[in-house]
Amino acid sequence: MQRQCFICGGRDLECLFVNTWVLPGLDLKEIGFSICRNCGSVCQSPTVTFDEMMHFYSSMAVYTNPGRREKPSESKIRDLDEQIQFIKRGVGSLPSSALQIGSSDGYTLSRFKQAGVTRVLGVEPGEASVRLAKKLYNIDCINDSAENFTTTETFELVILTHVLEHLYAPQTVLNKCRHIQDPLPEGFIYVEVPLFASPDSLCPGFFSFEHINYYTRANLFKSLLDTGYYPVSTVEHYNSNLAPVIGVLASTKPQHHTEEFSSEYENNSKKVQKYRQQEVAYWQQKLDEILPTLQQAKNVYLWGAGIHTCQLVANTNLLEKVHITGLTDTSELKWGLKQGNWHCVPPEAIEWQPGDAVLISSYASEKEIFDALQWLRDKKIKTLCLHRIDNTKTN
Ligand SMILES: [Zn+2]
Repeated sequence: MQRQCFICGGRDLECLFVNTWVLPGLDLKEIGFSICRNCGSVCQSPTVTFDEMMHFYSSMAVYTNPGRREKPSESKIRDLDEQIQFIKRGVGSLPSSALQIGSSDGYTLSRFKQAGVTRVLGVEPGEASVRLAKKLYNIDCINDSAENFTTTETFELVILTHVLEHLYAPQTVLNKCRHIQDPLPEGFIYVEVPLFASPDSLCPGFFSFEHINYYTRANLFKSLLDTGYYPVSTVEHYNSNLAPVIGVLASTKPQHHTEEFSSEYENNSKKVQKYRQQEVAYWQQKLDEILPTLQQAKNVYLWGAGIHTCQLVANTNLLEKVHITGLTDTSELKWGLKQGNWHCVPPEAIEWQPGDAVLISSYASEKEIFDALQWLRDKKIKTLCLHRIDNTKTN
């Protein structure tokens, strides 16, 4: 499916690169990344249809890690400490009510409530997350998507953290938020998204399947201004999370602190091409370093039905060099899912032989997965990490 520009609505998109992806639960898909010739925004196009994406989310997405026993990660706690202070400083006081779109397990809203926000409400498409929010934090949520939910209530603060980059029509959702705040003399919105910063700041796999829109500071400001929000505070972090992030607090009260928008076509086009070259070289080099070990193994299994497996296959010559016996994952949701030629099975269902190898290709959870596989190493199974980073920044 070809998309229109998510910022300006332009139809003149130029494809910068495209790959065939073996996505879990879906047939082979052509996934590409394109730039708008009008405003220079980068988005995923061609992409899958909205329905296919929803199917992917419902069969795959696990937003809370069972390994942490439903507790927020340290980095999540830290991020919320900062968010609350940042919003308080930008607004001048703590808002009295908050609506979070994409409220996940309810942790964020529980923190705002704890800080003194008297009325909080979530909007969350995942039924399991809605139940979890109620059970863990007594947070109420509308069980619906950002696109479909309605409310007659008004909220002083609307929170959208790591939501806009997933939406097929983010501007429509921002417009809806703005209308929810129409009755107020002044309302605020806090948006946070991955930041399409300079190529050297971006992690492998930055152009991912779930992220269909790519924001720079300039087009994020534009997206807010175009929907009647005026940025008043900004924060950018390049090292604190896996990918750079930007957070913007904006007010419904007209004010003009930001520079006028001009097309980012030239600059963004160069950025994507440089990043892409570096990324392809990176994946292959990482694989080349462990290839001899993989080729000596009796059976090789890939760990994790997901995007990282998809990227590993798309960005390297793994399948030409090594016979892959199968795919395994500890998540029950993924058992039976077909990805490429493999059906994902529980690790206990495999008859492991000494000399077998497992390849871990997740960037975000590499260490967590590796640490949990001591039982395999005890059976003389090699557990190989592709990225070999000690990363504790994941959310
Ligand atoms: Zn555009």
